[in-house]
Amino acid sequence: MEIPKKDLKILWGRAANRCSICRKELSADKKHDTMSYPIGEQAHIVAENEGGPRGKSILLQKERASYRNLILLCPTHHTEIDKAPTDFPIERLHMIKQEHEDWVRESLHGFPGWDVPIQEEKYLRDDKEVRIVNFVKEWLDFLAFFDLFYTNIYSYLLRSDKKLNDLPRTDILEWHKRRGILRELLFITGEKNLVVKKFISWVQLKSEDSYLSEWNYETPFSFILDFINPIAMVNLHGLAVWNASGISKEYIEGLSWKYPGVKMLYLKI
Ligand SMILES: [Zn+2]
Repeated sequence: MEIPKKDLKILWGRAANRCSICRKELSADKKHDTMSYPIGEQAHIVAENEGGPRGKSILLQKERASYRNLILLCPTHHTEIDKAPTDFPIERLHMIKQEHEDWVRESLHGFPGWDVPIQEEKYLRDDKEVRIVNFVKEWLDFLAFFDLFYTNIYSYLLRSDKKLNDLPRTDILEWHKRRGILRELLFITGEKNLVVKKFISWVQLKSEDSYLSEWNYETPFSFILDFINPIAMVNLHGLAVWNASGISKEYIEGLSWKYPGVKMLYLKI
């Protein structure tokens, strides 16, 4: 059974392209600089089939081909563990793998880009269009909420007898939740991937609002999502935020020309 791409990515990434036993650097394919690096081999801990080394196990075919059952090795050590399976039982190989991954993590600790949280792996293996569509879908949901939310805060601010108890509390919690999700999606998608052309309305809004021009936000998305306190946002930058939310729809229209998945979503609004 073929090993899924995502499992290969995780295995090679966590082992940092090195043999888990001798830590020699490995190359992933035969075309690449094989003079200096041996080819890496993703060895099965429990063999692919019952008859292979350490093959007697209740693991299913699919589990045998997954990251958890694989260990990255150089050709020499791959041969060694399969020729002498009794010297390299399942538990020992899991231990070697774990120690190697711990060593990688400690050696690389503090390097930017390394500490990718596990839950992001799901997003990272999706392709660009899927990430864009996910962001747009979440954003359109957010806009439907945002229109009413904005109006509620605005009418609260207009009241002469403002009491803290009158604040739309559940809406504010909702705002924080949605903002958190969208910020994460925006980061994963890459803001520049949401820009298909220059939008004059955005350039103009930026030139009219001193806060906006000072911070030079790339899109209305990052501008709106930057506000931690929605009351202050509406109070101090209300008009700019309101206009930005409208302009964000132009960005989505732009994306709909390029991505059929976005077009389907755009046609519904
Ligand atoms: Zn080795």
